[in-house]
Amino acid sequence: SSDEASNAFTLTPIGRIASDYPDKFGIPRQPGLASAARATLTLTPPFDDPLAVRGLEAFSHLWLTFVFHQSPTRWTPLVRPPRLGGNAKHGVFATRSTHRPNRLGLSLVELVKVDTRDGVTLHLRGHDLVDGTPVLDIKPYLAWAEALPEARSGFAPAPPPSLPVTFSAAAETRLLARRDGDSLRELIRQVLAQDPRPAYHKNAQNSSERRYGVRLRDVDVRFYPITTNGIDSMHVEDIV
Ligand code: SAM
Repeated sequence: SSDEASNAFTLTPIGRIASDYPDKFGIPRQPGLASAARATLTLTPPFDDPLAVRGLEAFSHLWLTFVFHQSPTRWTPLVRPPRLGGNAKHGVFATRSTHRPNRLGLSLVELVKVDTRDGVTLHLRGHDLVDGTPVLDIKPYLAWAEALPEARSGFAPAPPPSLPVTFSAAAETRLLARRDGDSLRELIRQVLAQDPRPAYHKNAQNSSERRYGVRLRDVDVRFYPITTNGIDSMHVEDIV
């Protein structure tokens, strides 16, 4: 609905995300960076009508528009993209920052399955959404219209660097005991390869003595950075 007087719009979420990412911390900064990340999108009444998704299963990828509900509503014209180490400032509309007017997010995700047995639940992969994210709309992705590999991409011309990730014997034992062990290993690898540590930790002198934790699915992944001959990698110490 729209409010004529104030020129404002009221949007109602059509559903909510249940995600492999319980927290914002650790989530890669764009959906394609962790293809192993799983989520479900369960539509809420009155949008949970199977008729509303008829034909959707024929598409492999979807655009989701959603609200950065865990971001503050205040915004500033300049933001510091983490990609640039948190130093350089760019206009908010020149970035994909979560701190923006209207807090609208846009993510391209893989559609794995459409389940209409009890309402509507979409099974998704390769997303960048925290658990509980309210979704406003779904649109099928049209590769012929929207894939533009030659497009100029400003301060983010290529994917961010990806670090090697190693696992301790204890971590491997934990993974082997799980039915989802292979996909969880892949998810951990993809998340840690992005080096989720805050920028000010990455540059710290004693950074290798610190221990970090990131929650993925139902586990807490304990890890720390290792630098050997100037090459950084991430080591998974344990999964608890
Ligand atoms: N692909 C989307 C876009 O471009 O609009 C999101 C990009 S944004 C840079 C990605 C980050 O948003 C993730 O790393 C995560 O920390 C954060 N995030 C994900 N879901 C969120 C939510 N519901 N509220 C606030 N922040 C969220």
